[in-house]
Amino acid sequence: MITHRNKINSIFTLVLSLFILCISHKVSAEKVFIKAGQLLDVSSGEVLNNQVITIDSGLIISIKSQIPNNIGDAKVIDLSDKFVLPGLMDMHTHAVRNLSRTYHDDYFQSPHRATIGGVVNVEKTLMAGFTVIRNVGADDYMDVAVRNAINAGEIPGPRMAVSGPSLGITGGHCDDNNLNHSFKERKQGVANGPWAARQKVRENVKYQVDVIKFCATGGVFSKGTKVGQRQYTQEEMNAIVDEAHMHGRTVAAHAHGTEGIKYAIQAGVDSIEHASFLDKETIELAKKHGTFFSMDIYNTEYTLAEGVKNGVPEENINKEKRVGARQRQSFTMAVKAGVKMVLGTDAGIYPHGDNAKQLSRMTKFGMTPLQAIQSATLNSAELLKWQDKVGQIKVGYFADIIAVESNPLKDITTLENVTFVMKAGKVYKKQ
Ligand SMILES: [Zn+2]
Repeated sequence: MITHRNKINSIFTLVLSLFILCISHKVSAEKVFIKAGQLLDVSSGEVLNNQVITIDSGLIISIKSQIPNNIGDAKVIDLSDKFVLPGLMDMHTHAVRNLSRTYHDDYFQSPHRATIGGVVNVEKTLMAGFTVIRNVGADDYMDVAVRNAINAGEIPGPRMAVSGPSLGITGGHCDDNNLNHSFKERKQGVANGPWAARQKVRENVKYQVDVIKFCATGGVFSKGTKVGQRQYTQEEMNAIVDEAHMHGRTVAAHAHGTEGIKYAIQAGVDSIEHASFLDKETIELAKKHGTFFSMDIYNTEYTLAEGVKNGVPEENINKEKRVGARQRQSFTMAVKAGVKMVLGTDAGIYPHGDNAKQLSRMTKFGMTPLQAIQSATLNSAELLKWQDKVGQIKVGYFADIIAVESNPLKDITTLENVTFVMKAGKVYKKQ
């Protein structure tokens, strides 16, 4: 009996040691060291010289000044002549919207084809140094499909927080008002009344969205809506936010006009998208509620330069002219007042992969380069409630790391040419 038990014990020990060996072998094979010439601590703004980042199984496990002596067969990535910082984050993208199509091509393209366009777009975005994006608005849950394929390791792309169809009123910015009534065209997120809105939130949650987007005012790229005009009552907005938060989802409200912004902040949304027409009272309200502003101050330039050629109707071009200038003034006011800002660019309105172009506009209209970088890292991570995993190069965080040729605190445009991209310890780009 004793012998038998001993035998079982020794077999168990052997299996256990083999198991440990396998594990340790796997770990060492996945260990990566990055030699960073300059490394930005985005939290303090401090630039550290000659740092070694140790990555194990996709996570940052140490940041030290020297490479250890015995590293075995671990991989070393030499970025000693580069400037290293955490991957960038864009909180307002339309990943399945493709600019190469003309304005009304939505009517001729199936959601399946558009999703394939999305696959191409997310790769471009990742290669531009954006390791996290939030997608705000996609019918047929196309963004859910793209996110799932990325998470399954089937296609390259950033980490995605996705919204699925945007909620909105009949005839509002989040509806489609281009066709006459006999077509019965209606966007998938249209919901009127608090209970219908709650039901739509529940449906989006059922189909696995991370965030709820709704339209609180008219918009630039819709027919017959006024950007300054509120859409949804306070009661409806309250219902959307309450329902979303109950399910652990954050809420993004598209809002240009002052009244719509106020109503949305009062309802408790997590971020205001665009935030074009701000006044002092609205800014104070945002500060009081801790609401993030996601202000897309670059794409105006693109729309005014290329919009007509891309088939954007005159009505929308005129709205853009009116909104763009005012939005930049509002941006300056909000930055001065200390509202929490994230980088949100409306990618898809301009070509995917140009997301970093907005950073220089943010510095032009009031931010320091560090503030602009923080909006695209720390603050965006906080908005997504992912601040314990992304947005910094820090022990325990995902190894989402990019590098550029020179110090972006001196010249922010250097971030438009990211030469190294790593996500979860995997290298996607190295020049
Ligand atoms: Zn948008």
